[in-house]
Amino acid sequence: MLEEIKERVCKANLELVSSGLVVYTWGNVSEATPDRRYMVIKPSGVDYAVMQPEHMVVVDIQTGKAVEGDYRPSSDTPTHLELYRQFPQVGGITHTHSVNAVAFAQAGRDIPALGTTHADYFYGGIPCTRLLTQHEVEQAYEINTGRVIVETFRQRNIDPMAIPGVVVCNHGPFSWGKDGATSVYHAVVMEKVAEMAIKTLMLNPESALPQYVLDKHYYRKHGPNAYYGQTHADE
Ligand SMILES: [Zn+2]
Repeated sequence: MLEEIKERVCKANLELVSSGLVVYTWGNVSEATPDRRYMVIKPSGVDYAVMQPEHMVVVDIQTGKAVEGDYRPSSDTPTHLELYRQFPQVGGITHTHSVNAVAFAQAGRDIPALGTTHADYFYGGIPCTRLLTQHEVEQAYEINTGRVIVETFRQRNIDPMAIPGVVVCNHGPFSWGKDGATSVYHAVVMEKVAEMAIKTLMLNPESALPQYVLDKHYYRKHGPNAYYGQTHADE
């Protein structure tokens, strides 16, 4: 079942490699079915060079059980599941260890909105979560990673569709969108704006983007009814 989604998810995972965001088997992309009963995710530890759509694993979003596939799902599966359960508009999720976004994660800092490239896709700074406690790491690391992401967005009152990404403290970026391909697109943009922000802060640590420029650029691309369904064709 779900052959079309498996093809899309496989293609999105391979795009992580071609975009330069991941090496080896780092990184994973998933996509939820339209009825949100299942998600399709990359298998754990399968080399990108030999990855095929039939290797993708179907997981029940509520029970967390793999219901189809010959491989074990990605070890980050519980994080993806928690985000689908708590963010009902999210249809696809990407996780990478891309270098510049990881730098913000390891520094424990938000990726600040410093220019219009950032503002075109993220309506404000991309938050960095708090550090997981020792208990959270030892007890149920992957699901607690999802929970700390959700906690960050709720506590700061951030709409996850207006800022479709996060950096998990001392770990790395997760991004999302209406489907798997859009979540990869946002992962690529997040990495680029992180690189731009690092260079900007080196030149001028006081750099900042005025709210009216942020508003202009974000709302130019994202009208009230277009938080998802946006296309990338008109960049
Ligand atoms: Zn990771």
